Amino acid sequence: MSIQTNLETLKNKLTEEVTLVAVSKTKPIADLQEAYQAGQRIFGENKIQEMTNKWEALPKDIEWHMIGHIQTNKVKYMAPYVNLIHAVDSLKLLKEINKQAAKNDRIIHCLLQLKIAKEESKFGLSKEDLEEIIALEAFKNFENIKVVGLMGMASFTDDEKQVREEFSTLKNLFDQLKNIQTFNFELQTLSMGMSGDYPIAIECGSNMIRVGSAIFGARNYI
Ligand SMILES: *Cc1c(COP(=O)(O)O)cnc(C)c1O
Repeated sequence: MSIQTNLETLKNKLTEEVTLVAVSKTKPIADLQEAYQAGQRIFGENKIQEMTNKWEALPKDIEWHMIGHIQTNKVKYMAPYVNLIHAVDSLKLLKEINKQAAKNDRIIHCLLQLKIAKEESKFGLSKEDLEEIIALEAFKNFENIKVVGLMGMASFTDDEKQVREEFSTLKNLFDQLKNIQTFNFELQTLSMGMSGDYPIAIECGSNMIRVGSAIFGARNYI
């Protein structure tokens, strides 16, 4: 199946409320061009260097989403152009994004990553961590970031019930926190769902899915 066919098949299953991030990590520029020609404009990458190389090579009307875990010292390389950072999981990182956004005279949109999976290996904040961060005076002074949503990854398991529970937990938290609205915190985006679990994620209330292998085929490495 071609990338174009995969994209069309996937998009036919989605309603307008769900935004598709095409996860192109490890894939060559030619693959992204094929998706671009099929109309895709939002791409997700998990390494800053790789994303920057692709940003330089491809048309400037593409939206770039950083979906991976981030090293603070590399934020500066994507600050001039990144559209959404999905996996923000510390005050330290928010502080650095705010600093680099200010240098570029931008307001960078971020999602806070919540740890919903039971697996130890997954990153993310607890509900308590999140509430603590957004209550801090330091957070309230960040003028160059805006938290526009939450992101989460379910456990890698065949147990559909567990996946559903994890996504629903995040959706409930999202609905609670939606009531808080400040100049730099206003939740609209709920990023959850990948190739293997996006139908469940959407049923549980996701409005942004991050899909890689179902569009571009299997990756050789992560
Ligand atoms: C790689 C990745 C995806 C896409 O995974 P697929 O299973 O290929 O759809 C989604 N989200 C994150 C955070 C990823 O790292």
